[in-house]
Amino acid sequence: MAETLGFACACGKLRGEVTDVSPAAYTNIVCHCADCRSAYTHLGLADPEKVGILQTTQDRIRIAEGGENLRLFRLSSKGALRWFATCCNTPLFYTPTKARAVHVGVNADRLDRPEAVGPVTAEAFIPAGAGKTRNRGMGRMVGRWLTRMAAKNLNGEWRGSPFFDAEGAPRVPPQVLSREERAAALMRVSR
Ligand SMILES: [Zn+2]
Ligand SMILES: [Zn+2]
Repeated sequence: MAETLGFACACGKLRGEVTDVSPAAYTNIVCHCADCRSAYTHLGLADPEKVGILQTTQDRIRIAEGGENLRLFRLSSKGALRWFATCCNTPLFYTPTKARAVHVGVNADRLDRPEAVGPVTAEAFIPAGAGKTRNRGMGRMVGRWLTRMAAKNLNGEWRGSPFFDAEGAPRVPPQVLSREERAAALMRVSR
């Protein structure tokens, strides 16, 4: 029997579950990049310094309550979709802009049992001194993403997403941050 994990925003209004938790369907990663961190600082939260992300496909996300509080922004006009709960300004997910990419990152800090997702197998943008960064496990991570994407597109399962409608448009329109807003969010990310 596949496992299910609960998630909720900080105030608990928006809640749901991620289904079918298994090593095959999920990749547990940590990202140190400024974009993932500025998704927090833009919402008025402290710089988390690194962000734990459970990667899977969008059809495995069920929003049970409070879905009307789900909104999104993009850090720039080319940025990924950053989904958050408006009730308490909690970052929850990121997705690519295209529904057929099927990919979603769930913020591990919102899961009720983050330890159940197993060990971190990839880490991105690890600070390596002198402004340099290094990665580990990225080839495997991307490979798993592409394998899932191919399978879900083959089955037409990219349509079962709580984030995009059947035409592939985001269910709520994204807000693109102004240059000033993006700069302000980045300024609060320590390097
Ligand atoms: Zn909330
Ligand atoms: Zn990142």
